[in-house]
Amino acid sequence: MNRMKAGVCQLAIIFIAGLSIIGFSNNSWAWGFLGHESIALIAQEHMTPAALAEVHAILGNMTMEQAAAWPDTIKQEPQWAHTASYHFINIKLGQSYFSQYSRPGFLQKGDAIRALVKAENILRSRSSTMIQKKYALCFLEHIEGDLHQPLHEANRARGGNSIKITFFGRSTNLHAIWDYGMLFEILWGQPRSPNGYKNITVQDAAKLVSMLPVATPAEIATWQNSYILDWSRDARSRLPEIFKDWNGNSQSYYSKYGPYAEEMIEKAGYRLAAWLDAIMTNQPFQAQKAQALRQEILAHMGGKDQYPIVLQPENGGGQGSGGGWHHGGGGWHHGGSGGWHHGGNGGSHHWHNG
Ligand SMILES: [Zn+2]
Repeated sequence: MNRMKAGVCQLAIIFIAGLSIIGFSNNSWAWGFLGHESIALIAQEHMTPAALAEVHAILGNMTMEQAAAWPDTIKQEPQWAHTASYHFINIKLGQSYFSQYSRPGFLQKGDAIRALVKAENILRSRSSTMIQKKYALCFLEHIEGDLHQPLHEANRARGGNSIKITFFGRSTNLHAIWDYGMLFEILWGQPRSPNGYKNITVQDAAKLVSMLPVATPAEIATWQNSYILDWSRDARSRLPEIFKDWNGNSQSYYSKYGPYAEEMIEKAGYRLAAWLDAIMTNQPFQAQKAQALRQEILAHMGGKDQYPIVLQPENGGGQGSGGGWHHGGGGWHHGGSGGWHHGGNGGSHHWHNG
């Protein structure tokens, strides 16, 4: 119930922002707006007031839910095309993250873990500008969520995009039911939004959050006592069965994995809360973990980062106004037509063979 309140006070803002509609390009929405906004709602409800104030100072007129969804709305624009690969990691099933580094082409594109490390570093750095921090915060919120979607880390069948299925009567694919199909089923009892895919609102996200099981303090503490590589391992821990268990029976699959999808949304929300608390209030222990992971990545790259992650628009420079921060008020538009692409090749740009 408490969670509902956190969402409801944002409604007026979202509604107004939603009126400035600009068409989206076809896209895959990762957890979808519903998942990303739910994660942001959970996080902001469990953050310290000091950290939340800092977040709002960086985001300006954007809400945390808007920031969490934003990277999916721009990744197909030319100046942001380099960020498309930051939403996922192609890890071969059963292998470790670092063992992928030796695969041809893997490091060139950038991946979710390196993008999160970069985003945290920008937010912690005193030399970052406010606009650089704003971009970094949007990507950090969003990609942390994507990292909790198991099929964003599977180097099999293009993360499930190539596995065409019929889910409760709708043609779709295995990746898409994890992005939003099962969440829609939880929220509406059907694998589609009654308002069309394009009109997901923060009320919808607040309702989904209110329907999630209540996490115990012990669960929350366990979830939060972890860091980026743990989150990735956690999300990949059930991948083999996630693929194997699809046998055409929507109900049995949903009965098994609907609750798991809920749990991953909750984990992402609580972990984001603790992480942003640590970053925004500069907690030393957490800062050491961040530095250690940066060094571990660098070591696995042979001591030199030849393919740096870039969390600002190409040619944008990250300075001053504009800089690709367009789409009207606060860089936000919600609910453009054609954006909520389901089935078909949704997200094919997301996945690369290899
Ligand atoms: Zn994404």
